[in-house]
Amino acid sequence: MDALLYIDGAWRESASASRLEVRNPARPSEIVGTLAAGTEGDVADAVAAARGAFPRWRDTPLDDRIACLTKAADRIVALPDDVAELLTREMGKALWESRMDVGFAEYTLRFAAEAAADAMTPLIVEDDEFGRVVVEKVPRGVAGAITPWNWPVGLLYIKLASALVTGNTVVCTPSPLASLAVVKTIEAIADAFPAGVLNLVTGVGSVVGAALVTHPDVPKVSFTGSIPTGREIMRQAAGGIKALTLELGGNDPAILLDDVEITEDLAETLATGAMVTSGQICFAVKRIYAPNRVLPELVEAYGAALDKYVVGDGLDDGTTIGPVVSNAQLQRLRGFLDEARQRGASVTEHGAVSAGTDAEGYFQLPTMVTGADETFQIVADEQFGPATPIMGYDTIEEAVARANATEFGLKSSVWSTDPDRARMVARQLEAGTTFINQHSPFAVEIKAPLGGFKHSGVGREFGLAGLDAYVELHQINSRSIT
Ligand code: NAD
Repeated sequence: MDALLYIDGAWRESASASRLEVRNPARPSEIVGTLAAGTEGDVADAVAAARGAFPRWRDTPLDDRIACLTKAADRIVALPDDVAELLTREMGKALWESRMDVGFAEYTLRFAAEAAADAMTPLIVEDDEFGRVVVEKVPRGVAGAITPWNWPVGLLYIKLASALVTGNTVVCTPSPLASLAVVKTIEAIADAFPAGVLNLVTGVGSVVGAALVTHPDVPKVSFTGSIPTGREIMRQAAGGIKALTLELGGNDPAILLDDVEITEDLAETLATGAMVTSGQICFAVKRIYAPNRVLPELVEAYGAALDKYVVGDGLDDGTTIGPVVSNAQLQRLRGFLDEARQRGASVTEHGAVSAGTDAEGYFQLPTMVTGADETFQIVADEQFGPATPIMGYDTIEEAVARANATEFGLKSSVWSTDPDRARMVARQLEAGTTFINQHSPFAVEIKAPLGGFKHSGVGREFGLAGLDAYVELHQINSRSIT
């Protein structure tokens, strides 16, 4: 597949005419497709189109905008399975996850369509004999949406859906590691919206993403990605005093309380949370804390849970865990594991490699690390791979302090049979979300705001707060008490 740019209602080549190759991380010699390598000029064209389309879209009745989103959601449902297959081929994850990712696009469009009336309702602050004060919600203008490769469809659509339904127009720049399936979905929904309302520029983030963030006609930027790029975007956006939503990295702790019974089921649920998308999701279980008393039991059960995984091409039926996205990602993870080994930690690989797997693929067996602590990279940093450090603690105060002793604050989890105790510990954790007895994408609640504390982000997506992020509050005040 050779993807084009979508600007002002038309598909076209980049002005540069140059292309980026997309290779299959499970079979790196396979070229899955090519992307138009967008330029600063292409972004300027897309922003001009979005800026031009903005007044009409802003003034389109909300019900009509909602109808456009519903039409787009229907188109997503009708997409053939080969879009999910394309997604697996371009970034590696198991096919069921790619299907879930594409399905998430529909889910976000329907959620935004349903929530829009509440989100856009003006707030009447005063209305009496002295006059009236109303706070109206107005779209900001052109919203820039910059997204990562790990859940490239769903994470883009939560931005598109929220921005569009609230009356903004959009320019998006998805990650060049996973743009092909995104382009297929945009092809499917494009004519649900007037020309210029939705625009897409593929290319290298430091070119097209940066051009979007620094463009003077883009007052709002919503970014999902790593903390270093988030910092860079904050710097770039400072000149234009832009409204930012930043959904950044996580290093989620899972804390087992001392009443938890170590069962096969518990170990498998923890492993699911750690291994989804080969550990490459922002809120994977990235470190486990358990009472020292049960540590040997947990290590055995967790190892047995990891042994059930089959690593291979995400398109193969038997595969439960695909490759990591790139060789750079694999080498980074292996560097963390080497450091752990060199410093005396135990690093054990589990599971099996599926027959016929390409030896050149970027595969890492599910791995468990014990004997490490917060001074090890595998614990201190976001590993973004299928490797879990498990650590013991003596007191719950110690576990909470260690869980919080980090710049990250995305999500976390507490595991206990006592709901009150679990909630009490949850409240002490510095994270935008704390799950109880679960920790995986299956637990995501789209009606509640999601986001990070500390360096894990600014603002929220999902819930009404997620739609609010795309509106300005405009006070219309005709009241005076004199
Ligand atoms: P990344 O920061 O490398 O890239 C994210 C996006 O930013 C890509 O589209 C990239 O092309 C673009 N980009 C790169 N440099 C840019 C620049 N200078 N200006 C503008 N855009 C630029 O992240 P990634 O490797 O694609 O994704 C993995 C990271 O994303 C992890 O840290 C993960 O935790 C995080 N993430 C967070 C969430 C969340 O909701 N908090 C969700 C998914 C992923």
